[in-house]
Amino acid sequence: MRLFVAAELPDAMMEALGETSALLRDHVSGRYVAPGSFHLTLAFLGEVPVARVDDACAALDEACALQPPIAVAFGPLGSFGRAHKATLWQGFARGVDELGGLAGDVRESLADHGLVYDSTAFAPHVTLMRRADLTGGLLPTPVVERGVIDTVTLFSSDLSGERPRYEPVHRVTLRWELLDDSEGMGMLV
Ligand code: ATP
Ligand code: MG
Repeated sequence: MRLFVAAELPDAMMEALGETSALLRDHVSGRYVAPGSFHLTLAFLGEVPVARVDDACAALDEACALQPPIAVAFGPLGSFGRAHKATLWQGFARGVDELGGLAGDVRESLADHGLVYDSTAFAPHVTLMRRADLTGGLLPTPVVERGVIDTVTLFSSDLSGERPRYEPVHRVTLRWELLDDSEGMGMLV
């Protein structure tokens, strides 16, 4: 089973990404991520034997046990790869360090359970488009939204169809009670 761990984004942020994606369609050609499929990958495991899926779930539970929800906000768009077939993504202006901490904890916990993941350095992003042709010039300004991430999910990925299909295998809800009061209030502004 092809697996990855990703943070899910709150509805308002998913909607903002959908709007940014729609703006991009007017400017850039390439392969768009379906709006319901936006996610923030924390660790990519790739092919895992079905018998090891329970270990991956346990690793995720343990990594998230002491992790409070994370306040995040979108920043500028960015890209990986060459200009004529780039991966185009939404970046973050708030929550970068906390997301890095969470990705590190998830990866460490996977390793503790003997699971292998891609160890490329974590850079928080939500992919909007693949094989994007960016040679045409300026990108539109993204729709900026903020919110709180409180769901971290082990997803399966099925690449056999025309579009990738991601299915939640195990969802962990981060515990708000782990925030102290002052932090909790701060997240809402
Ligand atoms: P496709 O491969 O058909 O373009 P996809 O990349 O969305 O689709 P997967 O390859 O299954 O589907 O990847 C699932 C998630 O993991 C995506 O967010 C993808 O960017 C990320 N990912 C894939 N491969 C790696 C990798 N080697 N290292 C880190 N993240 C990866
Ligand atoms: Mg891929």
